[in-house]
Amino acid sequence: MPRKVLIVEDIATNRIVLNVKLSAAGYDVVQATSAEAGLATALTTQPDVVLASARPDKMSPEHFLRAFGENPQLAKLPVIMLMEGYNPAARLKLLKAGAADVMCHPPKIGALLARFRSILRRHDSREDALLTEQMAQSLGFSEAPSGFVSPARVSVTTAAPTRAKAWCAALGNAPDCQMLTCDATKLLDERTGPSPDVLVVELQADAPEAGLCLLADLRAHPRTRDAGLIAVLDRPLETLYCDAMDRGADDVLPHGFCPIELGLRIRQLATHKKRNDHRRAYMHEGLRAAVTDPLTGLYNRRFAALKLAQTLADCEATGQSCAVMAIDVDHFKRVNDELGHSAGDTALIELAAVLQHSLRAEDLVARIGGEEFLVVMPRTPHGLAQEVADRLRAIVDAHPFHLAGNAPLQHITVSIGVAVQEPRPERLRSDIPDLAEALIARADDALYRSKRHGRNQVTMSIRTAA
Ligand code: GH3
Ligand code: MG
Ligand code: MG
Repeated sequence: MPRKVLIVEDIATNRIVLNVKLSAAGYDVVQATSAEAGLATALTTQPDVVLASARPDKMSPEHFLRAFGENPQLAKLPVIMLMEGYNPAARLKLLKAGAADVMCHPPKIGALLARFRSILRRHDSREDALLTEQMAQSLGFSEAPSGFVSPARVSVTTAAPTRAKAWCAALGNAPDCQMLTCDATKLLDERTGPSPDVLVVELQADAPEAGLCLLADLRAHPRTRDAGLIAVLDRPLETLYCDAMDRGADDVLPHGFCPIELGLRIRQLATHKKRNDHRRAYMHEGLRAAVTDPLTGLYNRRFAALKLAQTLADCEATGQSCAVMAIDVDHFKRVNDELGHSAGDTALIELAAVLQHSLRAEDLVARIGGEEFLVVMPRTPHGLAQEVADRLRAIVDAHPFHLAGNAPLQHITVSIGVAVQEPRPERLRSDIPDLAEALIARADDALYRSKRHGRNQVTMSIRTAA
């Protein structure tokens, strides 16, 4: 679907020229002739980006930008302002009022399109993050962001290292930013500490290649790809501006180093980066919570069932066996009755650790019920499965459980049922989820035979023909 641009411009010829150029570049263009009409059109047409002349009409450009920022439906919409000539003070005013960028009127089409690409890239990543966050919230995964935010790490790289120091000094040491002057080669090295949140790179018009390569590397490297990236050109040059944007810069200062503008951009990108980091962290936490049991930290039943189906499919494909162990604590009710529920919890936590440490890394251990566990063992034939189950039973039997302050060490045993799926000839392969269910049912069956025959023992499910 084409991206939609809203042009807000009172001079008809300017509007027409922009319309023709942007339409030719594949944008869907909507137009408004005044700031007031621009706000109304933005609400009705929902563009992806707004390009507005900073010429004051009934509404000043700052007022226009603030009206966007204050309207919840428009607040996230990037607005690029077009201004005649280069006026640093007026430019800063517009950036402070919320402009995503300020460009010279009439804009060079190449630079304008490069700016759109960069802005829309960032905007899309924000939309994706919001969507995932909303999904996580609706599934009950995530928590509200915490109030504490550590200072942003800001790295400055210039062609001459002394200049980076001078820039950092001019930017000042704000409490929310930690300035770092860093050799470009060290930026990607993990040993230099936590990765920066915002990276500032100087580009020299006479020898830009090293800086442009660095921008592309920073945007691609896992350590820095989510960081804010700002390029500072030593003089305005359209081709360099476009190259910087297309190599991954979020913002470009085309008119050289300006501490106020750079400080402003650093803060905006650092806030954006911190918010995304936080979203990613609690999405990760939400996913982890969805597949694990909060008491023991082991995987839960849902994940174990999925993993078993995957493991069975892999084993079928490679012609190998897959074993499943169902484990249940013997007379666990007595532990709760005699020592209390909290001691019972401690026993489950300790048992989970014993099981996990006694198995191979590729085996999956899950808590699938109160005092019931399931182990999935890929590439495990009948004989090996029996050996592992016997060893596990003996390890638990010999393990002294320390459950409560002064209480004596407890003796806990487990009963185990084991079922093995031997590889089947291709013609007999059927639905894997059914096979997984059947395998768990066979292991359960064997487990209950272990219980019936006196507990603290292992029973192998009778092998069935493929
Ligand atoms: P059996 O040998 O036949 O398995 O006997 P059992 O006592 O282990 O089995 P039963 O099913 O009678 O009791 C299981 C007990 O496990 C009852 C329940 O309160 C306890 N239980 C289940 N989940 C938890 C838990 O998360 N924490 C604690 N402390 N106890 C739990
Ligand atoms: Mg039990
Ligand atoms: Mg039980």
